[in-house]
Amino acid sequence: MTVRDKLTAIFADVTRRNPGEDEFHQAVREVLDSVAPALQKHPEYADAKIIERICEPERQIIFRVPWEDDRGEVHINRGFRVEFNSALGPYKGGLRFHPSVYLGIVKFLGFEQLFKNALTGMPIGGGKGGSDFDPKGRSDREVMRFCQSFMTELYRHIGEYTDVPAGDIGVGGREIGYLFGQYKRITNRYESGVLTGKGLSYGGAQVRREATGYGAVFFAEEMLHAAGDSFDGKRVVVSGSGNVAIYAIEKIHQLGGTVVACSDSSGYILDDQGIDVALLKDLKEVRRARIDAYVQARPHARFNAGRPVWEVPCQVALPCATQNEIGATDAAALIKGGCVMVVEGANMPTSPEAIRAFAAAGVRFAPGKAANAGGVAASALEMQQNASRDSWTFTHSEQRLREIMRDIHDRCHATAEEYGMPGDYVAGANIDGFRRVAEAMLAHGLI
Ligand code: NDP
Repeated sequence: MTVRDKLTAIFADVTRRNPGEDEFHQAVREVLDSVAPALQKHPEYADAKIIERICEPERQIIFRVPWEDDRGEVHINRGFRVEFNSALGPYKGGLRFHPSVYLGIVKFLGFEQLFKNALTGMPIGGGKGGSDFDPKGRSDREVMRFCQSFMTELYRHIGEYTDVPAGDIGVGGREIGYLFGQYKRITNRYESGVLTGKGLSYGGAQVRREATGYGAVFFAEEMLHAAGDSFDGKRVVVSGSGNVAIYAIEKIHQLGGTVVACSDSSGYILDDQGIDVALLKDLKEVRRARIDAYVQARPHARFNAGRPVWEVPCQVALPCATQNEIGATDAAALIKGGCVMVVEGANMPTSPEAIRAFAAAGVRFAPGKAANAGGVAASALEMQQNASRDSWTFTHSEQRLREIMRDIHDRCHATAEEYGMPGDYVAGANIDGFRRVAEAMLAHGLI
């Protein structure tokens, strides 16, 4: 059996064993499509069934989360934590609160996380969790009661040496605060390293909030530099207007680019003068408003309800909202609009058809598992600071983040060249991440 045949059989088995989990299948497929050359070079990985073991999470926890709203009505949500792989360190990965969350989404995110964490070169394994709870429109008290109920089960599965959750869609500083408070109360331990993304007043780290967005832009900057170019004067489109999007926009503006459009699930805003980041932060981080409120303060801007932001012509695009937000039609619109580079701030925002279209059109493309690794890298720095009871300055932390992103970029670039696929960041990221996990798993024996 050739290596390709083996991978085809493994993928068929993954789909059979995990029925209906389309996003998980998609994430596995993308990695399996890339790693054949690594398996050819290292037959010991196949002999030890490393791929088969990687595709099966070490542990999956599903639990009931009952809570009461402000009117006294009882609600039942479902909570998840998938502890995917601990070969490189404690499970590490965020929690997502969004009505679309089910096991297949959590598994795709956990699987991606494993390779992403490996790429950072830091001692962290892969995991992910969340709930189908929808925080939109809920009061702070309701979100607090939900978080307390969620942690009342989750606490028994996590710990600074076991599993360290953080934020993701719908989970930001407010939610991490409530989760940490409940963990501390139940365990009677001030265990700072059990969660990352904490507030600066109780053990959080500088630059963690900014890290995913800033990191994606640092990665994009490295790609531009590799082609003798820079952000200076570039017209950019960013999707989403949450944590990742806001700080990506902020950093692009600092580097001389202009972000002319961003979005939320209701539509997008177009502001040819450049998105006003202070206004966006006020709307989204303070007032928790919808994106159309932007045009009330900036009347020259336009709100386009229900339209994809990818119809706006740009040179660089950063999808920073959610999975599969760029389909084949969106890719065609981006290419037609003059886009030459796509860098994923979100996890798996580009569909396989869109990735193929970009490759065919010569659009440079960076996968999220490399480009958005800045968030988890900064989380690992937060864990380091918690362990040593230290706290670093903003400037120092940002410098560390920049170095880490440069290092990830260079290794993806070099690995793609080593395997005869120059410029293929998807192959570079998948092979480099996979090799790191595989080596550690081999060393640990059959577990
Ligand atoms: P937030 O909840 O802060 O923001 C998410 C943004 O995306 C919002 O503007 C939201 O709009 C939009 N969005 C979410 N779901 C959809 C949807 N189905 N359709 C259209 N728009 C949608 O999340 P983050 O910024 O933290 O996360 C964004 C992405 O980045 C996710 O893919 C996440 O996994 C990834 N990521 C995040 C990291 C982090 O550190 N936070 C680290 C690495 C990756 P609306 O409010 O209308 O729903």
